[in-house]
Amino acid sequence: MTLIDLARNNELAPRIVKTAEIENVSPEFLRAGLANGTMVIPWAQGHELSRPCAVGDGLSVKINANIGTSPDAGDISGELEKLKAAVDAGAHAVMDLSTGGNLREIRKSIRDACPVSLGSVPMYEAGYMAIDSGRTFRQMTAGDMLKAVRLHVADGVDFITVHCGVTLRAVEYLKKNRRVCGVVSRGGALLARWMVANNQENPLFERFDEVIDICRETDCTLSLGDGLRPGALADAGDRAQIEELYTLGELAARAQKRGVQVIIEGPGHVPFDQIAMQMKLEKRACNNAPFYVLGPLVTDIAPGYDHLVCAIGGTMAAVNGANFLCYVTPAEHLRLPDASDVREGVIATRIAAHAADIANGIPGARDWDDKMSAARKSRDWEKMFELAIDPEFARASRAKAPSAKEDACSMCGDFCALKGEDYF
Ligand code: SF4
Repeated sequence: MTLIDLARNNELAPRIVKTAEIENVSPEFLRAGLANGTMVIPWAQGHELSRPCAVGDGLSVKINANIGTSPDAGDISGELEKLKAAVDAGAHAVMDLSTGGNLREIRKSIRDACPVSLGSVPMYEAGYMAIDSGRTFRQMTAGDMLKAVRLHVADGVDFITVHCGVTLRAVEYLKKNRRVCGVVSRGGALLARWMVANNQENPLFERFDEVIDICRETDCTLSLGDGLRPGALADAGDRAQIEELYTLGELAARAQKRGVQVIIEGPGHVPFDQIAMQMKLEKRACNNAPFYVLGPLVTDIAPGYDHLVCAIGGTMAAVNGANFLCYVTPAEHLRLPDASDVREGVIATRIAAHAADIANGIPGARDWDDKMSAARKSRDWEKMFELAIDPEFARASRAKAPSAKEDACSMCGDFCALKGEDYF
């Protein structure tokens, strides 16, 4: 039985009870959300997780950190270092997007060391199955794709991204209405090119019932990928993107009906003023399934600072319905991130998520800020470091330019506005 099956039977599975404890909500609250598809607990059967989480409406916003090798850098130890950086900085989930080295070995090493939900993208492995047997990406078979899905689920990942909504119909819209940046999702691009080259429908769409069967085996959560997400502000909200979104909504209903948990993935590059509309549309099209956004990035002009661009969009998205934010690092659009980029990306996205939690009235979210404000008023530096989202960075920053006055900082010294008579 999957978590949805149990929830619909009014049973409180141990995975629900443990997650509720961590979320500080009642098990019944989670059970009800799982039963109606507005929440997920991405936690596969048999995977030991010390820090599970739940994602969905009424819960705090969760964040994911993508790690993984590339064909230029396939070293497992570097990825384990990034995993540690992400988890230590507070990521609720990690996705292994490896495309270089021995993908299965890397995935298993990450899974064994990962205390949080682990996600993966089987499509890259399907591509390698073709290459390793002397074929090209375009000569992949439907069997390769399904086999890759099976392999990832069997390896115990908690959620998989599958780009089931990239249909021939959506690809037709892409051809008719050319984009500035085309298809920027790696899995989506691989599939769309395969479909055009072979003039065939997406096997993950056509054989979606088999994908559901596979996920049921371990209660792996389906993250329905937005293979046609916009990769430029100019491409946001086009016909192909919205066509895919409505297809994902239909597929989500089919999977949920059969007891498989579903997350919907979303954009991407979106102008700030369009984010609210896009979030509300997803909820409408996908019957309030949890929404997992990759950004949104609100401007295209800031390589090197895209973690900040993502945080700006992330808060707006989460205040308007997004439940799960995928981080972006300062290395986005430039290179493979290292552990320090991962850390910065996680912190920036946690700030975005926390700002949304306050605005959304999540119980307890504001208390953290109020404690920090009280410590700031009394210039209790140790307390401020302790409460800081990144204590190490805050402490090091103060140490860079110490004040002659212990009860002030080097910004104002004796002019410290917080010192003096307490009239206000
Ligand atoms: S010295 Fe200025 S910046 Fe520093 S704590 Fe006092 S008021 Fe704030």
